[in-house]
Amino acid sequence: MSRSEDLFAQAQLAIPGGVNSPVRAFNGVGGSPIFIERADGAYMYDADGQRYIDYVGSWGPMILGHNNAAIREATHAAVDRGLSFGTPTSSEITMAEKIKALVPSIEKVRMVNSGTEATMTAIRLARGFTGRDKILKFEGCYHGHADALLVKAGSGLLTLGVPNSPGIPEDFAKHTLTVTFNDIESVRQIFAEHGQDIATIIVEPVAGNMNCIPPAPGFLEGLREVCDEYGSVLIFDEVMSGFRVARGGAQEYFNVIPDLTTLGKVIGGGMPVGAFGGKREIMDYIAPVGPVYQAGTLSGNPVAMAAGLAALSQLDDEALYPQLDAKVERLVTGMQERADAAGIPFTTNRAGSMFGFFFSTDAEVTSYAQATQCNMEHFRKFYHSMLKQGIYLAPSAFEAGFMSAVHSDADIDATLDAASNAFAELKQ
Ligand code: PLP
Repeated sequence: MSRSEDLFAQAQLAIPGGVNSPVRAFNGVGGSPIFIERADGAYMYDADGQRYIDYVGSWGPMILGHNNAAIREATHAAVDRGLSFGTPTSSEITMAEKIKALVPSIEKVRMVNSGTEATMTAIRLARGFTGRDKILKFEGCYHGHADALLVKAGSGLLTLGVPNSPGIPEDFAKHTLTVTFNDIESVRQIFAEHGQDIATIIVEPVAGNMNCIPPAPGFLEGLREVCDEYGSVLIFDEVMSGFRVARGGAQEYFNVIPDLTTLGKVIGGGMPVGAFGGKREIMDYIAPVGPVYQAGTLSGNPVAMAAGLAALSQLDDEALYPQLDAKVERLVTGMQERADAAGIPFTTNRAGSMFGFFFSTDAEVTSYAQATQCNMEHFRKFYHSMLKQGIYLAPSAFEAGFMSAVHSDADIDATLDAASNAFAELKQ
């Protein structure tokens, strides 16, 4: 038994499923998760001493690689000044100003502790601001685990949502309408029926929780138009795409400006941080200036702000985003070439430093339905072959991959060599 297997057996006795977040348990790929002891740069090292080239990056935050020196030093210095005060601090102003400077839609911003908190509150704010109850989301988009957002489509296009999990009252879920990502006609249809009651559309502008699916041309623009027409609030959930698809997020890249934006992952530099922000008139609807309540004991925590600011200040490097793009291109084109050479049906998507691989016979994957129809057996076998060869990919076919600034061409080439072996094994 490996040390990781041993730890997993132990963990399951004290922690539900042995993990503190479900996807870590490897249910999507089978087998036992690896327990990581430390990470540095592009690499993670497990409890058995094996090194992995990491394309998960703690599920997105590690755009600068693990154990970044400036983040580490800023965090240490903040720790020396005290862990939490429960009062305003100047670092929160610096953070708010930095986010405003980077994200086009944000005029005011409130810090929270996770992406889930950010989306949950953005929804409440949109409902309070518009005085409407219904919200519209897209099948396959994930926005954290708040009740209103853990909802899937009922049967038929124009039906109301049903809970995705026990514990969510149907009375809550019925206010969530769910339609098809990248299908603007389904949005227009549902607005024609319910538009005056819809507080908000929430969308991942680049979907990263059904693998990686960029928006179809005109889709985000269409959402903007529909929201303008019906007076609904457009929320871009950029918890994942923020600072990844481009420095200013997907909204900058696609030049579509939402009313509210939710952020997380990269803004914490690895610490638990989220944020929501947007138009001044909407943000001033939140307590203590406005009537919509929201609060947090540790929100704007000085250690988390120090880590996040140290991360965000490194994104100003002009070379960073073109380099990330070039690395992702090297990886995805290399993967495609190797899959083609092995005769494995395969296609890829990418957006900035996010990417996705699909074991699909379709030339292009643009929808949730296509993502769910991929060859899962191929994915699982490929996954374990790559893992054995020291390449750590997300243990689920429905997660985007992430490139960091410190992955070298040699790391990518080693990944491609491993992929050649893995594709060959699929043929056996
Ligand atoms: N929104 C998106 C787009 C996400 O990808 C995630 C997490 O993966 C969340 C929200 C929830 O963030 P957190 O896990 O920090 O609560």
